[in-house]
Amino acid sequence: MAAIEVHETIDGFRATLDRARASGATVGFVPTMGYLHDGHVSLMRAAKGANDLAVASIFVNPLQFAADEDLSTYPRDLERDLDLSAAAGVTHVLHPSVEEMYPTPILTTVTVADITRRFEGASRPEHFAGVATVVAKLFSMVGPCRAYFGEKDFQQLAVVTRMAADLSMPVEVVGCPIVREPDGLAMSSRNVYLSPEQRAAAPVLHRALTEVVAAAEAGEDDVAVLRARLVDLVAGEEEAALDYAEVVDASTLEPAVDLAGPRRVLVAAHFGRTRLLDNMGISAPGV
Ligand code: AMP
Repeated sequence: MAAIEVHETIDGFRATLDRARASGATVGFVPTMGYLHDGHVSLMRAAKGANDLAVASIFVNPLQFAADEDLSTYPRDLERDLDLSAAAGVTHVLHPSVEEMYPTPILTTVTVADITRRFEGASRPEHFAGVATVVAKLFSMVGPCRAYFGEKDFQQLAVVTRMAADLSMPVEVVGCPIVREPDGLAMSSRNVYLSPEQRAAAPVLHRALTEVVAAAEAGEDDVAVLRARLVDLVAGEEEAALDYAEVVDASTLEPAVDLAGPRRVLVAAHFGRTRLLDNMGISAPGV
């Protein structure tokens, strides 16, 4: 396993990657907030597999947390993260302080319209401006690269893809499949917040998605029926309080009225104070 270089300064990280590219290397970049799990590791392996250099960032971005959210308690374990990153083939990690990332109060932010309005954007109004802004900064620091994001945060993947295209960033955004626990729960750094009862209940999201997608693929093409089934299945779990459940057009993220085209089923629910997200694609006949 190659030694891992940890960069606390943006200049040092940028210079290293510029040098690597100048000698012909391609760069695969995985932005994270740390407290890594197998979902993050799968992105790192994908970055390593398709590029000469796999690099990552570990930064808990204050800009994307609302005042009442879990910024101060967000789980952190840098040593373990570096071990997992190195084992996945990552050789350079940017781990800046908040002061390094935001030396002065930020006046410039990136806002992506329309696709940020619903779902996570409705529940967390400042969230996507915070995400888009930090990802734009990170893309500017990393330079030309492929950047790997999980489908776990499907709306985030759509937002980042659109931002990179709209702003002609020299970055190819690559979406990667959701990695799950054996019982179907999508891996998330926030799963550690769940009580044993909530953890036992949480796979309901994956079960509900699986059932609804199977119904769609078996020929149920009434979107209202599919959505109602999803709502009922989550409502049947008393630990879960549904936030949203919707079948959407996979590229515009607008609620779908039919299944004529790529569709995604999105769901979010509270388990106590922890909000969990999940989603699944429909490969319906004719799609
Ligand atoms: P985070 O550290 O939560 O900001 O996530 C960093 C990246 O890992 C994002 O692109 C996430 O979508 C991705 N990710 C998080 N959980 C999973 C998962 N279970 N499977 C695949 N990718 C994931």
